[in-house]
Amino acid sequence: MEFVKGLGGVYYLLIVLAAAVAIECALPWRKGLKINLARWLRNASMTVYGTILLSAIPAIAAFGAATAAEANGVGLMNQLGLPFSARLIISVLALDLMAYGQHRMLHQWYVLWRTHRAHHTDINIDVSTSLRFHPFETLFRAMIEVAVVFALGVPPEGILLIYLIHVIANAFTHANVALPRKADIILSRIITTPAVHRQHHSTDLSRQCSNFGTAFTIWDQMFGTFSGPENLREDERFGVEGPEAMKADTFGNLVFDPFRKPKGAGVPRPPAPDMPAAKDAAADKAL
Ligand SMILES: [Zn+2]
Repeated sequence: MEFVKGLGGVYYLLIVLAAAVAIECALPWRKGLKINLARWLRNASMTVYGTILLSAIPAIAAFGAATAAEANGVGLMNQLGLPFSARLIISVLALDLMAYGQHRMLHQWYVLWRTHRAHHTDINIDVSTSLRFHPFETLFRAMIEVAVVFALGVPPEGILLIYLIHVIANAFTHANVALPRKADIILSRIITTPAVHRQHHSTDLSRQCSNFGTAFTIWDQMFGTFSGPENLREDERFGVEGPEAMKADTFGNLVFDPFRKPKGAGVPRPPAPDMPAAKDAAADKAL
């Protein structure tokens, strides 16, 4: 447990990032995308100041909540007296489902979208995008996480495990990596692959409103928001277009992005699907 409390967490993140960048270099999806130091610094600065200001506190809060819940027998799993292995598996699945639910909420309500928008305004997607999260989003996620930890009685080891998994998932799903097509299709039925998550960053709103999962795709498949790697286009454009687009990709604009409410503001959504039945009924009435 000392591993999470000390510098171990930072080293773990750096190792995962380095591994993900190495895979990006070996198996690039978009060939022309070079490592851009300025962009890396800009995106990483979000994590650095976010971590110092807010992320460290929520991580300790979640871990503290889990320790307190266990010590006091609080939470469903503690009440039921489930064996440790069952509590661990349920914790990982429940916290990944929670992350899916949080992500849907971030795309559902405008006040939350403004905390998530900075992540989506990146027009290229690579490992550095995985560091581009506004601390307000992190804070929102942490508040829900603490509540879930208490309600379920997630053990501290469950928090540690999901953090280890989500750090890898976050770096891997944003990596500019092309997996072998067949392997990608098979893997994507269980875990979120880069080609799956990349679609969530598309400017095409029907694809942007899909693939909300962090580690596993089972939630997207269960709730009908899954779009397989075969749907990714070679010429896919990334970012946010229309009124919600950010003027210039600068550090200041990223920091103050949640305070921005442009003219015609609203969460980007795909146009309502054509409903021929409804149209026909309207046409019938008109006649
Ligand atoms: Zn998103």
